[in-house]
Amino acid sequence: MATPLTDQEKRKQISVRGIAGLGDVAEIKKSFNRHLHFTLVKDRNVATPRDYFFALAHTVRDHLVGRWIRTQQYYYEKDPKRIHYLSLEFYMGRTLQNTMINLGLQNACDEAIYQLGLDLEELEEIEEDAGLGNGGLGRLAACFLDSMATLGLAAYGYGIRYEFGIFNQKISNGWQVEEADDWLRYGNPWEKARPEYMLPVHFYGRVEHTGEGVKWVDTQVVLAMPYDTPVPGYKNNTVNTMRLWSAKAPNDFNLQEFNVGDYIEAVLDRNLAENISRVLYPNDNFFEGKELRLKQEYFVVAATLQDIIRRFKSSKFGCRDPVRTSFETFPEKVAIQLNDTHPALAIPELMRILVDVEKLDWDKAWEVTVQTCAYTNHTVLPEALERWPIYMFEKLLPRHLQIVYEINHRHLQKIAELYPGDNDRLRRMSLIEEGDPKRINMAHLCVVGSHAVNGVAQIHSDIVKSTVFKDFHDVEPEKFQNKTNGITPRRWLLLCNPGLADIIAEKIGEDFLTDLFQLKKLLDFIDDDAFIRDVANVKQENKQKFAAYLEKEYKVKINPESIFDVQVKRIHEYKRQLLNCLHIITFYNRIKKDPNKHFVPRTVMIGGKAAPGYHMAKLIIKLITSVGQVVNNDLVVGDRLKVIFLENYRVSLAEKVIPAADLSEQISTAGTEASGTGNMKFMLNGALTIGTMDGANVEMAEEAGEENLFIFGMRVEDVEEMDRKGYNAKEYYERLPELRQVIDQIRSGFFSPKEPEMFKDVVNMLLNNDRFKVFADYEAYISCQEKVNELYRNPKEWTKTVIRNIAGSGKFSSDRTITEYAREIWGVEPSDVKIPPPNEPRD
Ligand SMILES: *Cc1c(COP(=O)(O)O)cnc(C)c1O
Repeated sequence: MATPLTDQEKRKQISVRGIAGLGDVAEIKKSFNRHLHFTLVKDRNVATPRDYFFALAHTVRDHLVGRWIRTQQYYYEKDPKRIHYLSLEFYMGRTLQNTMINLGLQNACDEAIYQLGLDLEELEEIEEDAGLGNGGLGRLAACFLDSMATLGLAAYGYGIRYEFGIFNQKISNGWQVEEADDWLRYGNPWEKARPEYMLPVHFYGRVEHTGEGVKWVDTQVVLAMPYDTPVPGYKNNTVNTMRLWSAKAPNDFNLQEFNVGDYIEAVLDRNLAENISRVLYPNDNFFEGKELRLKQEYFVVAATLQDIIRRFKSSKFGCRDPVRTSFETFPEKVAIQLNDTHPALAIPELMRILVDVEKLDWDKAWEVTVQTCAYTNHTVLPEALERWPIYMFEKLLPRHLQIVYEINHRHLQKIAELYPGDNDRLRRMSLIEEGDPKRINMAHLCVVGSHAVNGVAQIHSDIVKSTVFKDFHDVEPEKFQNKTNGITPRRWLLLCNPGLADIIAEKIGEDFLTDLFQLKKLLDFIDDDAFIRDVANVKQENKQKFAAYLEKEYKVKINPESIFDVQVKRIHEYKRQLLNCLHIITFYNRIKKDPNKHFVPRTVMIGGKAAPGYHMAKLIIKLITSVGQVVNNDLVVGDRLKVIFLENYRVSLAEKVIPAADLSEQISTAGTEASGTGNMKFMLNGALTIGTMDGANVEMAEEAGEENLFIFGMRVEDVEEMDRKGYNAKEYYERLPELRQVIDQIRSGFFSPKEPEMFKDVVNMLLNNDRFKVFADYEAYISCQEKVNELYRNPKEWTKTVIRNIAGSGKFSSDRTITEYAREIWGVEPSDVKIPPPNEPRD
């Protein structure tokens, strides 16, 4: 019998197709040693594993540089339309392995590092995650950058270089504890500071109306320092730029007017300005109206727009086109995509620049602005929608408030002409919400100021049109689009699951990595016993590897033969981790009731961060860990059921756990999860989905066949009807004895014997004011889980269902998503032209 291949050997297999020439290996070793010496200033006697990581990172980075310069030069010469993706979050994760893969260097590096007596995977683990995001929205931005570069678009990601990304989560006594994410402590080998392109951003001050027009004066200035990170496309020599801004106090900060005579105080006060880029706000799908956050939003927008306009003015065919007036061609050369309303200030800021600085008349400026901007909506949950109090906005951005008022005035005038006398409609559609305090509705601003508005999955785009933006859809239906989210198959298959990528490539070649629809060719092998066995074996190896990781890092032992049932995502009531808990406890009670019966063994893994201020989410984590305490230590249960809370869920942990999952939990209340992207990662990695008809689950069922997913529960229509009739949780509690037992146990302290009242807020919520109707789906969920067990008892049928899912996952490549944005919103065409490889500078 052949010994199973190690991961390194597996990577080499696929790399045989990826080439690892002897010369390349020798060159990498040489470069590695040079960097260890000249960059790290170490020799092998004193070098730490971290030094080796940095030496390798610099070696790989060197291979980016020529391509990066060349790509930017190429854009300057050809002057294609530039795409600017504005986002307060870029959840990039690690960069080393992704760069090696996209440059086709992985095998060469693997071999070189091996020959140097080191272990590549161990070095990769040293890299910090770039955790500049909360969850799906930030990770989407990262996947989009990969796809835009792979599709050869002249694209830029613009955001903030937070000094502290999403907090690190520790579990202490079963509770979440936050730790600061000091990700830059050892330096970031991938970024290049560009102090020469620093730009001023103004805040506060007042508006002066002069003979030469409007002036915003007496402002406080903060400098925006750009840090550029290369974004390589997959094997196409394109390297785009992600430009993140860092706040710097000007050298005269607080020294002239205010703190005259107190030099030391003034220097210490530089922190006030520099705090703008200090930390990522850790809320997912939740609006917190803090002034510092509004400053962050304007900071990224103001710096980015100056940068865009500088580049436009210096471009060959843009502003300098002699036959057209200036800025006429702006929307032909510039697209700005707003990732949610977070960068919505781009709309009034562009108007301010065009009207106050460039002296365009209002109507022309407005046409340019609308044709340039497009807005992606990510949620319909009311608590997530940004509504800034006017008093705060006015103090920080007085000129922008005037511009928003003017936009609103003209917008309402048009509506009033269309619907004479319909004052309620005017109130509903206003950018300004009356009340205490008065607020600006940023989503309304985005809809009015953009030429395209899109949702992120078909069901979500439909809901957007019929609910939050219904009145706007009535007036301009052609503005509204759908762009179903996607994920990059490079990171989320090739990088994280080399074993699976390899057996797929054996059957259908490697082109699926840039044309994911090709996965449907796998249906030709649905009855190929050898392929079925390979797919099952890869999954089993991934499970074993993850079990070993948990044992090594967390000292927990799990049964690799059990169903790996995984729910990893931010903790949120709408995502219904509580429904998962109810199933766990029900399963536990069934084992206890009938201890000698056979049960299909399960390991339930739940992971995710709770926003630090979200009481209920933190309590949910405590409930999960408390249930784990009881279940995992019950000798009657044995290894038939284990409950693991996966600490500190983040991109690099997702890359480990998703390839090991059998079952993907996507169980939000229908109508609440806009798309989800975690769902797609699991599907592509050979997990089956148990889920509701929500977000992109609907389209996953369409692509793979509904019979190949475990779909349960209320549809959106059912939820709406229940809202009309009224949801009564107690009715389910009284009718369903197993549910009643579970709730009584939680309420009576069965899982918290030292503090029986611990979960009273959870129980009260579930029984009395559950917006997300957990009990209404309980019965359907439990019986659906029984179907899961049934199929799992038939390994061959299970694996065939897995193959049908993988084969149906082609739609969920972010390459497809970006191709649609390019054609239907930005008016550009993706290209598979390979920029010629660079000539490295010679001595
Ligand atoms: C993909 C991803 C998410 C989004 O997951 P959903 O299940 O769609 O909410 C969140 N966090 C991380 C680290 C991810 O990789």
